[in-house]
Amino acid sequence: MKQYLVKPDSTVKLSKWDPNDTGDFKGGKKEGQAEIRKLNAKLESLQELLFAEHKHKVLVVFQAMDTGGKDGTIRRVFDGVNPAGVRVASFKAPTSEQLDHDFLWRIHKETPGNGEMVIFNRSHYEDVLIVRVHDLVPKKVWSKRFDQINEFERMLAENGTTILKFYLHIDLDEQKERLQARLDDSSKHWKFRLGDLAERKRWPEYMNAYEDVLNKTSTDHAPWYIVPANRKWYRDLVISSVLVDTLEGLKMKYPESEENLDGVFIE
Ligand code: AMP
Ligand code: MG
Repeated sequence: MKQYLVKPDSTVKLSKWDPNDTGDFKGGKKEGQAEIRKLNAKLESLQELLFAEHKHKVLVVFQAMDTGGKDGTIRRVFDGVNPAGVRVASFKAPTSEQLDHDFLWRIHKETPGNGEMVIFNRSHYEDVLIVRVHDLVPKKVWSKRFDQINEFERMLAENGTTILKFYLHIDLDEQKERLQARLDDSSKHWKFRLGDLAERKRWPEYMNAYEDVLNKTSTDHAPWYIVPANRKWYRDLVISSVLVDTLEGLKMKYPESEENLDGVFIE
């Protein structure tokens, strides 16, 4: 899955990244889903190990355009993990209290502790995406945030946090289909906001803002992955693989008991 990793200081053009890509995976949807089930079982045991070892912190960031699939990805990829050690933090438009602080204040409070895995559904990156596209703060404010984000993430990494960031890449046609599906199904109306249509009109501006994010904030300590996300099964497969590979790379071990259990006999 290395082909989806954004190298530090690259010059990504999103128009060159195919949202329908299925890489070198030989099978189709059915084979893909079987593979995802295997990876999911591995993820469950790795997460238990993470929790038991209580040493590493794991932060997984999801960003995407509306209908990009953040909710579905979280539901499927993390299916069956132990809720005692996994938490989702969703970031909406900031409250007035949050706006009274620096943009990382609300973010830092949600970061994982030892043994914990935290999933960000949207993140501090909104502060250089929607905030930039809508001129919510002046350029001289948001343009400094790329460095501020890199330094913040470096600090988290140096304090034991493994950070993975996924941009779910869909195209305008796929968004149209997914918005239409929401409109056609009254049980999905709660997800549909008329404002989403106004955002859709700004697609090129968002792509431009995303390109800056990917080019300026993919680092060795907090890399971005551009996930082809038109096909949901392939999206889930890429993310599950990266998660499992990364967690396996931590070489975690179950802790030994602090007491001597030799010869202990239960009556
Ligand atoms: P949803 O994820 O569909 O529930 O929508 C949440 C909304 O909150 C999206 O339109 C985000 O762009 C918006 N949002 C999240 N963070 C910020 C932020 N820092 N400033 C302004 N809007 C934000
Ligand atoms: Mg929405």
